[in-house]
Amino acid sequence: MDIATIAAIATPTGRGGIGIIKVSGKDAFSIAEAIFQKSAPVIDVSKKKSAPLFSSLKSHHLYHGHIVDKEKGRVLDEVLLSVMMAPHTYTKEDVVEINTHSGPVVLASILELVLKHGAKLAEPGEFTKRAYLNGRIDLTQAEAVIDIINSKTEKALEIATSHITGGLKTKIESIRSALLDILVETEAAIDFLDDTGENLDSGRIIKILKRRVVDALKALIEKYENEHVLRDGLKMVVVGRPNVGKSSLMNRLIQEDRAIVTPIPGTTRDLIEETLNIHGIPVIIADTAGLHETDDPVEVIGIEKAQKYIRDSDLVLFMVDASDPLTDEDYNIYKSIRNKRLILVINKSDLVEDDFEPAVPDSWRFIPRIKISALYGKGLEDLKELIVNLSIGEYGLEAKNTIIPNLRHKISLERSLQLCVAAIEEIRKQTSFEFVAIDIREAMDGLGEIIGDTAKEDVIDQIFSRFCIGK
Ligand code: GDP
Repeated sequence: MDIATIAAIATPTGRGGIGIIKVSGKDAFSIAEAIFQKSAPVIDVSKKKSAPLFSSLKSHHLYHGHIVDKEKGRVLDEVLLSVMMAPHTYTKEDVVEINTHSGPVVLASILELVLKHGAKLAEPGEFTKRAYLNGRIDLTQAEAVIDIINSKTEKALEIATSHITGGLKTKIESIRSALLDILVETEAAIDFLDDTGENLDSGRIIKILKRRVVDALKALIEKYENEHVLRDGLKMVVVGRPNVGKSSLMNRLIQEDRAIVTPIPGTTRDLIEETLNIHGIPVIIADTAGLHETDDPVEVIGIEKAQKYIRDSDLVLFMVDASDPLTDEDYNIYKSIRNKRLILVINKSDLVEDDFEPAVPDSWRFIPRIKISALYGKGLEDLKELIVNLSIGEYGLEAKNTIIPNLRHKISLERSLQLCVAAIEEIRKQTSFEFVAIDIREAMDGLGEIIGDTAKEDVIDQIFSRFCIGK
């Protein structure tokens, strides 16, 4: 394990009230000692003479002083230094935080000085990674840290916060402990009963597997499926032929949403994509360029991208124009989206009578529909209501239990579930108990990946690469 002392600017770039440089590792104190001049002299009375600075400072206290570049004989800033001794720190290592007057130049020059004295620039998420590697938090708690930073709505924040206290970990551990009990019994049977399993109470083991493992795993997977949009956001796309009013609707929704968040980073931006907060759900909305047939190679690429976006989306707003009869183009668009969860949005209702109903084909009759006027903002509240109802259904935002697995967790949960179902089958069929033990062990490993006990290095690296520097 890399045990270099690491340092980074922990506050956002730009000018602010204060800026913080965080230093963590075994040399944190000696580096601080070299660059920090405390305001009042420190006398260690017990030794009757001046003592090294850090032996006289108290853990979890703030000290006033200056950062001094002794080589150049220059004071860089007046600071407050917080001293936190291992193991009761974020990383479980010795930590100092230098609270400066901020400003990018001050921060950069202090950081440079810290690096000059032997610290290594921290990678994104490295402080949190150390908290994980040093056993202070598990992987689900580390992921919750990123979720908290990225939370786009209060609900998403609530979910992230309940994960940071280790809620999911506790659930996973209880399932694992049930599996361990079964494993111990099966292995004992293998050792003592010549693998016949004759004296093993198969009925009881199956019951435990079903109740304490399979049902619990299913419930967690279901939780992901029904409610993950609360944490990850709902991916929604507006589709329709040119001029039906797609961009007008997008603009309306964006203007109305004061809590608008910046576009999702890292997405390729051929489509215009915005994140909205619709009644507490983060909704990532995109407007597709079009889905019409074309020979133009540039357009073909755009259309392929739009199709992929639609495939990945949770909800499609299929928009038609109330003031214009449906055309072949509308029917063709419907064909390419009919397998998705849809809302038929009948726009430009301001141009028709209130009781107007468009003549739609039979196959469209079951699509939830709504009449709006994007231009005048009519019907938008009802549309939002429908979006929310369709995406979180009966669970609603009030769901008390906020432990909702993420996609990575869900994949591991599904694998463990499959293995446990297979184990039940094997016990029923009285197959070799060796196989049962193998499946159960693998199922336990799958669960271990979620909390990090058995997670592979690349998984761990990938999780921490999503962090920002300084966290
Ligand atoms: P898009 O091509 O589907 O993105 O359509 P636009 O949003 O660019 O709208 C095409 C035209 O329809 C523009 O002139 C809009 O002002 C107009 N439009 C959009 N929504 C409405 C509406 O609800 N009522 C009326 N009367 N016109 C609308």
